[in-house]
Amino acid sequence: MSNTIDMQWNLVLDTLRTEIDENTYKSWFKPLALINIDGGRAIMAAPTRFMRNWLLSNFAERLKNAWQRVNMEVTDIDIIVLSGFQGTDKDIEDDGIQKSESITKPKVKSNASVKMVSESSFGAPLDARFTFDSFVVGKSNEFAYAAARRVAENKDVNFNPLFLHGGVGLGKTHLMHSIAWAMRENFPNKKVVYLSAEQFMYQFISSIRYKDTMSFKEKFRNVDLLMIDDLQFIANKNSTQEEFFHTFNALIDHNRQVVLSADRSPSNLEGVEERIRSRLGWGLVADIHPTDYELRLGILQQKANNIPEVEIQSEVIEFLARRISSNVRELEGAFNRMVAHSTLIGRPITLDMTQEVLQDLLRANDRRVTVDEIQRQVADYYNIKLSDLLSARRARQVARPRQLAMYLSKQLTSMSLPAIGRKFGGRDHTTVMHAVKRIEELRQTDSVLEEDILHLERMFST
Ligand code: ADP
Ligand code: MG
Repeated sequence: MSNTIDMQWNLVLDTLRTEIDENTYKSWFKPLALINIDGGRAIMAAPTRFMRNWLLSNFAERLKNAWQRVNMEVTDIDIIVLSGFQGTDKDIEDDGIQKSESITKPKVKSNASVKMVSESSFGAPLDARFTFDSFVVGKSNEFAYAAARRVAENKDVNFNPLFLHGGVGLGKTHLMHSIAWAMRENFPNKKVVYLSAEQFMYQFISSIRYKDTMSFKEKFRNVDLLMIDDLQFIANKNSTQEEFFHTFNALIDHNRQVVLSADRSPSNLEGVEERIRSRLGWGLVADIHPTDYELRLGILQQKANNIPEVEIQSEVIEFLARRISSNVRELEGAFNRMVAHSTLIGRPITLDMTQEVLQDLLRANDRRVTVDEIQRQVADYYNIKLSDLLSARRARQVARPRQLAMYLSKQLTSMSLPAIGRKFGGRDHTTVMHAVKRIEELRQTDSVLEEDILHLERMFST
C-alpha cells in the first residue's frame, strides 16, 4: 500500500510554502487537507466555506500549478468544505530534507468516507506526440537519434549510460519519450521508467520524510530501463546527487539500461561531483547541436502536412525556418501561432501576416547568441571544461579555445570588449582585443583552426 498521494500533497504544500509568505501559508493552507485524486482532479478540503471560497478565488491557479509540478496527471483542483479535521504541519529545510525528528503523516479526520486512490506507477506520463516517427532527423541530431533508436531496438545493453545533451528545445525529451514508446511496443514486458531529475528528487525526499527509503531504492533498482531527464537539476543538491549515483551504479552493475539528458555535457555539469561527472561519460555521450536551416524546414513541413486544412504559403515556411533559429520549441510555437491566427480570421497564412503577427518573436531571434552559449559550445567542441575555459590557465590547449570563444563573442554578439572580458573571468578588454586580432591572423594560415571556426559559426548561424 503506497502513500504516494500523501507524499504528493506534502510536496504541493512545500512548493506553496516557498512561494507565499509564511502568514498566508499558515492561515490558509495549513488548515487544508487532501481528500483524494480522482480522474485528474485533486480534491482538497477546507474547514469553512469562507476559507474555501477565498482560496479558490485567490489561489486556484497557484494551487493547480503546484499540483501539476508534483503530479503531471492532475488537470484540475477542487476544494470542498469539511468541518472537524486538521490539516498538516511540517518543517522543511534547504534542499527539502526534513531535519526534525518527529515526522507525522498528514491525517484526514472526518466522518466522510474518504477513498484513497493508490498509485503504483512512479514515472512521469509520456507525451503521445513524442515518437520516433514524428522526429525529423538532420545533421545536428542524427547521432543522438541513431543512439536512441539503438537503445529502443536492442535487447542487449550496448552502451551505458546513453547521455543526451544539447540546448533547450532541441529534442532531448522528445527522443527519450520515443525510446519509451518504442520499448513498450518492442519489449512490452520490460519495465521502462521515465522521469525528470526534479521528480526523482521529489520522490527521494518523500521517501526520506516517510522513512521509506528502502522501497524507494527497491522500485528504482527494479527497472530495466531508467531515463532521467534534465539531469542538470541535481547540481548542488548533494543528497539527491548521492542517491542518484547509488541508483545509477546499481542499475549499471546489473546491466540495466540508463538514459540521461542534460543541457550540457557531463564534464560541464558544474555543481555535480567530479566522480559522478566522469562516470556519466563512460557510456555513449551524444550531443544535439543547434538546428540548421534544412532541419527547421523539414520540421515545419511535417507540421504543415499534418494540417492540410490550413493553407500555408511555402515562402512562409522558408521564412520561418530562416528566421526562427533559436530552437525547435520556439519554431513550433511560431508555427502554431500562425495557424491559430489564420484559423481565427479564416484566411491563408501569408508572409505579410507572418511578419506582423510574429514581430516580437522575430526581433528576439535576431539577438539570440549569448556569450554563455558560445563559451559552452566552444568548451564542448574542444572537450575542455568550462571552468578551465574561464580560468587563468595559460596552457595552450585551453588558451587557444578561450581566444576563439572571445573572438566568436565579438563577432556574434553585440557585447563590448570590456563586457566580454568580464564574462571571461574578469579579464581586461585589451586581452579580448588581443585575442580577436590573434584569431583573425591565425585564420589566414591555420587551416585546421579555420575549419573549427567555420564549424562553430555554422552552429550559431541562422
Ligand atoms: P528539449 O527536451 O531538448 O528541451 P523537446 O524534446 O521538449 O526539447 O523539444 C521541444 C519541442 O520541439 C517538442 O515539441 C518537440 O517535439 C519538438 N522537436 C524537437 N526536435 C524535433 C525534431 N527533430 N523533429 C520534430 N520535432 C522536434
Ligand atoms: Mg526537455
